[in-house]
Amino acid sequence: MLAEAVTARTALPPFDNSAMDGYALDSTTLTGAGPWTLDVTDRIAAGESRDHALTPGTAARIFTGAPVPRGADCVVMQEKVERKAGLIVLTFRPDLGCNIRKRGEDVAPGAPCLDPGIRLTPPRLALLAGCGLAQVTVRRRVRIAILSTGDELVEPSRHLAHGQIFNSNRVMLRALLTCPWAEITDFGILRDDPARIRGAIRDAADSHDVVISSGGVSAGEEDHILDALRAGDARLDVLKVAIRPGKPLTVGRVGGAMFFGLPGNPYAAAITFSQIVRPALRRVAGLREDPDTWFPAVSGFDYARRTGRREFVPVTWSRRDALGRPVLERLGPGASASLRPIAQAMGIAALPPETGRVAPGMVLRVEPI
Ligand code: AMP
Ligand code: MG
Repeated sequence: MLAEAVTARTALPPFDNSAMDGYALDSTTLTGAGPWTLDVTDRIAAGESRDHALTPGTAARIFTGAPVPRGADCVVMQEKVERKAGLIVLTFRPDLGCNIRKRGEDVAPGAPCLDPGIRLTPPRLALLAGCGLAQVTVRRRVRIAILSTGDELVEPSRHLAHGQIFNSNRVMLRALLTCPWAEITDFGILRDDPARIRGAIRDAADSHDVVISSGGVSAGEEDHILDALRAGDARLDVLKVAIRPGKPLTVGRVGGAMFFGLPGNPYAAAITFSQIVRPALRRVAGLREDPDTWFPAVSGFDYARRTGRREFVPVTWSRRDALGRPVLERLGPGASASLRPIAQAMGIAALPPETGRVAPGMVLRVEPI
């Protein structure tokens, strides 16, 4: 991600050049009524470094990307002239400037070509290269520590004893954070032991910009994250969020690091991450562009719900309405512990907090997964 504004080293294109294979000429010398016959007195290919001047009243053979000779004001496509030995016959008057890419028409010399805070996408790298910029200053990656809490968790590669479940949040978080602006340290699974959790979060906060945990943020006796944070020098800014699922999301600071405590339930962890954590991380990373990927869709389902919280439901679709909007099918009840609905979903529909019944045909906002 670009850390500072960059300025083009040269104009882009650096010189007037031909957009076509054809003939460069000076249209002001085409007097009287056509057709006109012109001698071809020069030949200029791409990469030509000599400065060519057009012999008045003649044409120069020219190829795409070749410098336009001084004195020429247009290039006529080779398909549009009749070619004879050493000359061309032109039956129409070409427009002034046609098929000439003017110096600086893409980027003026010395003009800012990219702003800070943007991702260096493939086209932007091409623009930098085109402007002669081989080195730019980028922001360093955000250092993010992740950890899972829960005595019941085992890694998917291990034997599952009675009472245990496989850790699904860890791989999901790792995959969600695999992006150009993040650097992940994985602290693995922490037992539900307040002292160890406190120590691990403090260690992680000392050496990272952001710490993200999963599990243990509700108010139960075995939910130790909040106690661990309160016992340290943490600042807790957010303890509950009016969304479903994901109500117990916790946001705060531990030392110099930002802290996000995600709920343990996988669907709740996925929703709080995508709705709240990811936008916050993008800010921390210094990204100025917000990916605006939602689109309007219409409900194909009927759902009576409790008002008060914004609800996110996993959806899929296989047809569109007359306006081209996807007609949504709701997947499963969207329970916060379920993994299959979100795994099968094509997107997440946001249900407004005040909506008590989602009826078929209601317009909903969807974010693709
Ligand atoms: P907690 O927030 O710790 O009370 O956990 C809420 C629910 O999510 C419990 O049923 C946990 O077993 C489950 N859970 C917690 N962490 C994970 C995880 N890493 N992967 C899958 N499920 C989890
Ligand atoms: Mg737990």
